[in-house]
Amino acid sequence: MLKRGGTIGILGAGQLGRMMAMSAAQLGYRCIAYAPDGDNVAGQVCDDLFTNKWDDNAALAAFAARCDVVTWEFENVPVATASAMPEGRIFPHPRALETAQDRLNEKRFVEGLGGRPAAYARVDSRADLEAAVDRFGAPGILKTRRDGYDGKGQWRIGSDREAQGLHLPEMPLIYEGFVEFEAEFSVILVRGQDGEIRFWDSTRNTHEDGILATSSLPAGEAIEAQVGEARELARQVADALKYVGVLTLEFFATREGPVFNEMAPRVHNSGHWTIEGAATSQFENHIRAVAGLPLGDTATVAQSVTMTNIIGKDIKRAQAHLTAPDTHLHDYGKAKVREGRKMGHVTRLER
Ligand code: AMP
Repeated sequence: MLKRGGTIGILGAGQLGRMMAMSAAQLGYRCIAYAPDGDNVAGQVCDDLFTNKWDDNAALAAFAARCDVVTWEFENVPVATASAMPEGRIFPHPRALETAQDRLNEKRFVEGLGGRPAAYARVDSRADLEAAVDRFGAPGILKTRRDGYDGKGQWRIGSDREAQGLHLPEMPLIYEGFVEFEAEFSVILVRGQDGEIRFWDSTRNTHEDGILATSSLPAGEAIEAQVGEARELARQVADALKYVGVLTLEFFATREGPVFNEMAPRVHNSGHWTIEGAATSQFENHIRAVAGLPLGDTATVAQSVTMTNIIGKDIKRAQAHLTAPDTHLHDYGKAKVREGRKMGHVTRLER
């Protein structure tokens, strides 16, 4: 168990790290963050921020020497960086990053545990793409295997002709058949160092331009009927990875049951509602898990919850939300406002 006043290192320094550090402070811990570039808004609430490159071994060693335990908030932290942290003092284990960073590996891994992803094919050439579109039809989505987030690195392919005309990016790709879903939801769990697992309620997630827009509860019947099966898969994934911390799996609710979309080996945007809407938030439970503390109750404490992301320049008007009842603003403190950038979120509860 991490002693009072111990130091937690966070690889990555975005809003997820910022909210993690705020929970760590509540539990009497200190945090230091490591991220080479960006706004590094976690640095505003951490004791220190290393802005060295991911492959700067001397800086990584100096960072590790100051940490009792290390975690990450960003799933594109290079596996070599996470593996440079002392074995047994980084949670989750870097094998979770290795599995989740490549969409092809991730789908094969989840299929091996009985999960059902959308129809997919590996695409390394135009001929592969044409064969995939032939096999699964169009529309479909062409995605980069690595480094995609918030709808980036994705191209919707409307027809065979569109596939033929597309300028193929020179990187490993994957083609997915389009899933006709009724709704989208995520399963968020926390797994402790002793293997105990707790789940939060699954929200209904809506996306705009591939970016999460809202997460809400109650999620509705179409989702509620599928959460049990989705949780079983998430449990298997967490156990297979001997995972410690918060893990997220995203699903499509379809007429044929839950279809696995992707996993994030970290706290997740669709779990931000848990800060006010659950007895223990995803951030607090992640810190509890990596610190080896007992896990907290994940029960929902409201009749209904809606988390709405504040994207781009809408942050300038965000304080207007504060006049609404039981409404909570989280401004991530980002200096640079960009279109499509997550700047904050608002959670509204009805108790
Ligand atoms: P992703 O980054 O893979 O989670 O994709 C972002 C969003 O794009 C998802 O949450 C869906 O709304 C949509 N999407 C991605 N893949 C598919 C698919 N195969 N079929 C239908 N919609 C998809």
